[in-house]
Amino acid sequence: MAKTLSPVCKLCRREGEKLFLKGERCFTPKCSFEKRDFAPGQHGRTAGRGGKGKGMGTGRTSDFARQLRAKQKARRIYGVLERQFRRYYDTAMTGRGLTGLNLLQILESRLDNVVFRLGFASSRSQARLLVTHGHFTVNGRRTDVPSMLLYQNDEVMVRESSAKLTYFKELDAYAEKRNAPSWLSRDVKKLSGAVSRLPERAEIDGSLDEQLIIEYYSRR
Ligand code: SF4
Repeated sequence: MAKTLSPVCKLCRREGEKLFLKGERCFTPKCSFEKRDFAPGQHGRTAGRGGKGKGMGTGRTSDFARQLRAKQKARRIYGVLERQFRRYYDTAMTGRGLTGLNLLQILESRLDNVVFRLGFASSRSQARLLVTHGHFTVNGRRTDVPSMLLYQNDEVMVRESSAKLTYFKELDAYAEKRNAPSWLSRDVKKLSGAVSRLPERAEIDGSLDEQLIIEYYSRR
């Protein structure tokens, strides 16, 4: 019988690299990419080991394919649908400073990403689920919108009623083991955190190529 592969893990194989979408599992031998690092689908293996997926497997990679992959990779890492990602790009364009950095800062400012970065979830998808279930407040108000954008001095906290759940009771010990980035402050005992400032480029995933993403949208 064919082995069922998580659709999430297929995204890593599609991008030809580990995107760390499943939390702790990604760091164990159970990681599917360790066993099958070729693109999914009928022709995946023909792309060769380290296959980069559609349009990336053979010969020279076109500029368009590289731009598309850079955009898809960022979308997948942050779990953002195309239409919303495009809206983020439009907003980044109108902002001051560098469009690419603006875009990455918007992605990092999402509530689900901040919950993940604070160490309150092992992956962005788990953070998204926790937020959707209404376990967090932002500036004292309950929210269930993972895409909510946070700004400087915004405070995130686990709701009082949620803090009694086993997951959150055990969370401080887990969160202690994970470092929060320096653009966020947190109080693990109180299960709270705040945005001290926007992240600088060096504090964001260096494997993301915002220039290629800009090129992708510029040609459309
Ligand atoms: Fe799956 Fe994580 Fe491995 Fe990607 S890195 S294949 S999401 S376990």
